Amino acid sequence: MPIDPTLPYDDDNIFARILRGEIPSKRVYEDEYALAFHDIAPQAPQHILVIPKGRYVSWDDFTARAGDVEIAGFVRAVGRVAREAGMVTPGYRLLSNVGADGGQEVPHLHVHIFAGKPLGRMIA
Ligand code: IMP
Repeated sequence: MPIDPTLPYDDDNIFARILRGEIPSKRVYEDEYALAFHDIAPQAPQHILVIPKGRYVSWDDFTARAGDVEIAGFVRAVGRVAREAGMVTPGYRLLSNVGADGGQEVPHLHVHIFAGKPLGRMIA
């Protein structure tokens, strides 16, 4: 069920619980700004989610409220996760769904990283 990204941050959302270690996840990377783990229902041979440690509902919320250092740290972490997963060659795709039309279901910003097969040119 798509979420309304203009609602206030919900501390009980599933990714907040993963960040707090209350729910298990297959973690692949963690630093001061980000946590990355395998998607529970992968849509490509490799499907990793990267989330910021801060309380941001969506990409929109993050880019509106986060500080430059936090944004840079998170974006750098996304690149690092893909590199460390060996995705750079032959390539990968980044995606962040925002709001109802974007199909966002979890109200904590997450960037999907897909890889492991030719992904084509589809956007939906
Ligand atoms: P969205 O549609 O962009 O919000 O994507 C949410 C993603 O979170 C989907 O790809 C889900 O499969 C994934 N997901 C939901 N719950 C969990 C979980 O507990 N662990 C890992 N991934 C999850």
